[in-house]
Amino acid sequence: MRSSPEVQQLITATKKQLEHLRALGVEGIPLDEGTRLSLTPAAPITSELPLAAPIPIPEKPTSLFGDLTPTPQTLVQSTETFEQIHAEIGDCIRCPLHRERTHVVHTEGNRKARLMFIGEAPGADEDAQARPFVGRAGQLLTKIIEAIGMKREEVLIGNVNRCRPPGNRAPMPDEAATCKPFLEREIAVAQPEVIVVLGNTALKNLLDSREGITRARGRFHDYKGIKVMPTFHPAYLLRDPSKKRETWEDLKKVRDYLDGSQDKPQRGTRDTKVD
Ligand code: URA
Repeated sequence: MRSSPEVQQLITATKKQLEHLRALGVEGIPLDEGTRLSLTPAAPITSELPLAAPIPIPEKPTSLFGDLTPTPQTLVQSTETFEQIHAEIGDCIRCPLHRERTHVVHTEGNRKARLMFIGEAPGADEDAQARPFVGRAGQLLTKIIEAIGMKREEVLIGNVNRCRPPGNRAPMPDEAATCKPFLEREIAVAQPEVIVVLGNTALKNLLDSREGITRARGRFHDYKGIKVMPTFHPAYLLRDPSKKRETWEDLKKVRDYLDGSQDKPQRGTRDTKVD
């Protein structure tokens, strides 16, 4: 193969450099995973060697200690439907919570919602009616939604667990871990712009957060590219109404974010298909 004088010069210089390395006792140079340029005496250094195996150029510079930047996760748009997910959940017996439940309580609301609320698990009213947040805490949640100028039917409402824990205790970690993937699949279908996590159980399970709700609330967190605002659970607000002021601050941030992001790609957000 004929090559220009510049290329010839480069080849000669490379060969010299390789000879020099071999003289120093270097036996080979790793080129990429599984490929090694041998410099042992048995392998003559010819102009073919460096050219036959191009040295890969890393796409981004790596540091001495490797790339320590965590790769941000992004949500891949799912082509599933809620119906398919709910059919797969079926008459679920995957965790012990099924023993005392009356109904599996699925996520409900606008499947193209810009805003989603996630709670802990159904209580007695939800278990009886097979709908999330319909008891006293649910009525307060409806007021909170209306306070930011939205209707309940406009948003999506779900829980980490779909079966009522006995005595309204918090779901155990393994019960939450069993149920959470279905919620995550619904999120991947709906792709809301903001998720409000209500209370510690939702916070810990969606974000794997070690912070408690009191520290984490009031600022946006990230779930696979979706803004997440943690705030107090409405059941807690019923017990301690003084926390309503902070909840209102959190929800105003959500409202302002949604108001300011009107020019983002619209995904039929005013379509209010409700189930
Ligand atoms: N509390 C929750 O966390 N979820 C409900 O659906 C009702 C009460």
